[in-house]
Amino acid sequence: MNGRAAFAGPPVLFVGVKAMPNTVLVGAQWGDEGKGKIIDVLTQQADVIVRYQGGSNAGHTVIVGDKKYVLHLIPSGILHEDKLCVIGNGVVLEPFDLLRELNELHEKGIETKGRLLISDRAHLVMRWHRALDQADEARRSAGKKIGTTGRGIGPTYGAKVGRTGMRAGDVLKADFLDRVVEQVEAANATLASWGAELLDVAEITGLYRELPDKIAPYVADTVKVIHEADRAGKSILLEGAQGTMLDIDFGTYPFVTSSSSTAGGACTGSGLPPRRIDRVVGVLKCYTTRVGAGPFPTELDDDVGEMLRRRGGEYGATTGRSRRCGWFDAVVARYAAQVNGFDFWAMTKLDVLDELPVVRICVAYERDDGFRYETFPSDLDELARCKPVYEEMPGWQTSTSEVTRYEDLPLKARAYVERLSSLTGVRIGILSVGPARESTMRLGL
Ligand code: GDP
Repeated sequence: MNGRAAFAGPPVLFVGVKAMPNTVLVGAQWGDEGKGKIIDVLTQQADVIVRYQGGSNAGHTVIVGDKKYVLHLIPSGILHEDKLCVIGNGVVLEPFDLLRELNELHEKGIETKGRLLISDRAHLVMRWHRALDQADEARRSAGKKIGTTGRGIGPTYGAKVGRTGMRAGDVLKADFLDRVVEQVEAANATLASWGAELLDVAEITGLYRELPDKIAPYVADTVKVIHEADRAGKSILLEGAQGTMLDIDFGTYPFVTSSSSTAGGACTGSGLPPRRIDRVVGVLKCYTTRVGAGPFPTELDDDVGEMLRRRGGEYGATTGRSRRCGWFDAVVARYAAQVNGFDFWAMTKLDVLDELPVVRICVAYERDDGFRYETFPSDLDELARCKPVYEEMPGWQTSTSEVTRYEDLPLKARAYVERLSSLTGVRIGILSVGPARESTMRLGL
């Protein structure tokens, strides 16, 4: 599909070859797959970078030279000159997090005006959404906690679906502060029924008084902008946050995020139609991690798990929470490939496994009555009855972090990644062996 000409229908005027096909990038596991780095690599060929779902509960880490950037809302394309970045309609945006992130970029000399656009349809995470999120999590009993980041993402998506949400475009309207008062009062009624602390209406209204002036330069009808860019032959990169197993529909419900983190969400979260997407890239970590509560069949509660956490730096970019770590799960990856239709894998963090004498891969789940699952069961009670079926391969016990050509990898490391590819039916397109841009191999791209 490389360089697909844009013949998708009469409104498309551009006829030619794009520098990079329109690309969607999706995490294949429970998030933290290293999407930030792969996005950074692909961004070099893209003109427009669109974030299509999630909020500031996600965090991408990008290393450029000796500087480290952790971005929660703004696409990391902002670090490249001449790229247009869009926060799509599928994102929920906490305005003060956004302003803080903008300030940090300005302090590091990065210009954002005219380079960052926020969809006027994107919903805003307001203080009452955050209060509702935290109060709801607090009132749940131990086994029923979702493990949310408590940032108000869930209630904001809830308000969106319940048709009471506040959109970025609403901030620019004359009745904005009246709506704030109305909504704080409604939230207080719910908080009171939960026995939680109430919000001070005047204080919250005061917080938002200066917001319209600050946010106005960035708000736009981004559907129009994205379509015009596509028609003009610009290459569009759509980046997802979190991962397939946290998707509201396809993840381990209810231990999921509140948005569509899979490839379909790229269309509903940006306004780019499905036929204008040329390829879908799956970011896949060479082992598995998960943050917060919820099922994790290949989790390791031993020295190997601890080693993966230490070598992989498996601590959340947003929350600092330590991640649960385990063996690679081909059942999860196979299922993610089904749901997203990946064209190729961008595999990450192979180097984290360098020391191990033996590596294990979960190839299937076996239920207590012997039934074998090859793809992920939808029912968590079923999953609880399953045990991973492992296959063992010898470790390579050689450092891979300096390797820049696939042919130079230890044969045992190649056998491992090729096994992951054959078990999932998806070829390897990118292989990453370190956090830096240079530690990236491209295979047949
Ligand atoms: P994301 O949310 O999917 O972008 O993932 P995170 O940014 O939370 O986690 C990725 C972390 O792993 C970051 O600190 C990256 O710099 C780092 N990283 C990415 N790729 C590799 C790799 O191939 N090897 C190693 N050792 N670290 C990597």
